[in-house]
Amino acid sequence: MGKIQGSCLCGKLRFSSNADPAMTVVCHCKDCQKQTGSAYSIVTSVPLNSLKISGIPKSYTTHGQSGRVVERKFCGDCGSPIASIAEFAPDLFIIKAGVLDDPNWLTPEFECYTDNRLPCTPATDLPQFSGMPRID
Ligand SMILES: [Zn+2]
Ligand SMILES: [Zn+2]
Repeated sequence: MGKIQGSCLCGKLRFSSNADPAMTVVCHCKDCQKQTGSAYSIVTSVPLNSLKISGIPKSYTTHGQSGRVVERKFCGDCGSPIASIAEFAPDLFIIKAGVLDDPNWLTPEFECYTDNRLPCTPATDLPQFSGMPRID
């Protein structure tokens, strides 16, 4: 059993990792809103080489608001967005918090793409960035 584990809604995709998760953030970008059908994404990440995954995710590639390539992984059966692999951090599997079996321990470090925040989701006390601070 990994430190981190999760699955899509139907359970055909399951993943785990024993690595310490890093870079937990709240993302308000338009692509996250469109892909998740929700107001924002909370994501955490583990090194790709620590990942064990069963099932084959589908992939949809976009250019994010930063202009860089983001491969968005999702279940082709139930549609759950699982994770992204981003050009700005190609060694990371950037996991959507809602697909973790236990997301309760997550502590986001900052909020990004806040210019796109929905008015009904007010800012927290976390640092606020209009873009993605670690790549610009
Ligand atoms: Zn599924
Ligand atoms: Zn986003």
